[in-house]
Amino acid sequence: MTISAQPAASLFIDGRPVEGQGAALPVRYPFTGEVIATLHEASTGQVADACRAAKAAQPAWAALSPAERGRVLSRAARIIEARAEELARLETLDTGKPIQETLVADWPSGAAALDFFAGLAPTVTGQMIPLGQDWAYTRREPLGVCAGIGAWNYPSQIACWKAAPALVMGNTMVFKPSEETPLGALKLAEIFIEAGMPPGVFNVVQGRGEVGAALVTYPNVAKVSLTGSVPTGRRVYAAAAEGMRHVTMELGGKSPLIVFEDADLDQAVSAAILANFYSSGQICSNGTRVFLHEDIKEEFLSRLASRVKAVRMGDPLDPTTNHGPIITPAQAGKIRDAIAAGLAAGARLVCGGPGEGAFIPPTVLADASDDMSIATDEIFGPVMTALSFADEDEVIARANATPFGLAAGVFTSDLTRAHRVIARLEAGTCWINAYNLTPVEMPFGGVKMSGLGRENSAAAIEHYSQLKSVYVGMGGVDAPY
Ligand code: NDP
Repeated sequence: MTISAQPAASLFIDGRPVEGQGAALPVRYPFTGEVIATLHEASTGQVADACRAAKAAQPAWAALSPAERGRVLSRAARIIEARAEELARLETLDTGKPIQETLVADWPSGAAALDFFAGLAPTVTGQMIPLGQDWAYTRREPLGVCAGIGAWNYPSQIACWKAAPALVMGNTMVFKPSEETPLGALKLAEIFIEAGMPPGVFNVVQGRGEVGAALVTYPNVAKVSLTGSVPTGRRVYAAAAEGMRHVTMELGGKSPLIVFEDADLDQAVSAAILANFYSSGQICSNGTRVFLHEDIKEEFLSRLASRVKAVRMGDPLDPTTNHGPIITPAQAGKIRDAIAAGLAAGARLVCGGPGEGAFIPPTVLADASDDMSIATDEIFGPVMTALSFADEDEVIARANATPFGLAAGVFTSDLTRAHRVIARLEAGTCWINAYNLTPVEMPFGGVKMSGLGRENSAAAIEHYSQLKSVYVGMGGVDAPY
């Protein structure tokens, strides 16, 4: 069967599809490797066109009331809901993720962000500061043109998570999806227009890293929000600093999931599955260093190995498939190298292994030590590294001994221990007796090398706006001469 997901054109600038003038960008369905669309990168001139369109559209968009902007976002959320199946299918073709995931996680989480920020926008107010006879007030104003750059694991969710707070605050956006997954953002651009958004408010350019770099440094870009790896984050942050641009950086991780001896083991096993194997492990916040108390380690691993037998790898469009292919052969190769390095260093294979073709099964490596590469490096695949520990202070120190700080989880039935340990973990997003749940109401983001700023929640508003202070003189001006 030949599948086509060819969009009207590769880019979306100033309210309409525009063909890219740059190099061809074949889009492959990760399950079969077949080309389902051929896009073209934006030329440098087209990146400039998109930034200029966004700049030109911004004043009128910002002049609407927050409630009016919010209504456009809410209408877009309703359109996404009405087209849930078509959009989930496209996301599956773009990413290879099972349809049973893309139906519930990807676009639905994007729609939730649009609704949340639509409702929040009218509640954003300034402060009134009494100064005796005089007074001052603050206004929360938009930054201007925001650049959004996405990773390939949650392309549509990332586009919505960045667009929703940015646009509702009166900014406009130029978004560059990952070259691997360019299709969802184009749909979002179309949906926004259908929802009544003025042309130029949300634009999409396509391309590899160089197109992203041209976007980040375009003179009228005021803010850059990147979801990507730490090395890319470093480059983008440095380029943004040149023009004193604001940044939000959602980067990689190697997060700890700590299971104490008093944890409900079946619940902890469920969480470890979600924390390592959902989306074939291609999730930044995954708890890939699973610290198991030595008293329960073997029992945990044996329950986990038996649960993993229920995995169904295969056609991502089959609703019973719960484990999809890896995004590209190159990424699958990196994951296999990581597994091989772990085994060569002496780790024990509890289940899984290198797999075949595009598929790598849920893989658990035990008896690892903290200095093995499987315990230090982000693998971004379905590979869990199990480590054992004896006491609380020790595990906290080991969990924190990483440059990353995106997420962390603790499983215990001791209430005070749960909060005590979480307070000492160096991570931006934490869970107690849960893992990888990221509702839009909760701030999401990392510390240390995992990033800056927060997405979702009221906190995101601060990262897409700036404060203006206004002093109001109510009497005479007291000049010295
Ligand atoms: P990359 O860092 O390779 O790429 C991220 C995006 O940046 C892509 O769109 C990429 O384009 C673009 N890019 C690359 N170089 C530049 C540059 N110099 N200037 C501007 N843009 C550039 O990440 P991946 O796409 O491989 O995604 C995986 C990574 O993302 C993992 O490390 C993961 O942990 C992280 N991630 C973090 C999340 C979070 O919220 N913290 C969520 C999801 C993923 P192109 O790909 O076309 O080259």
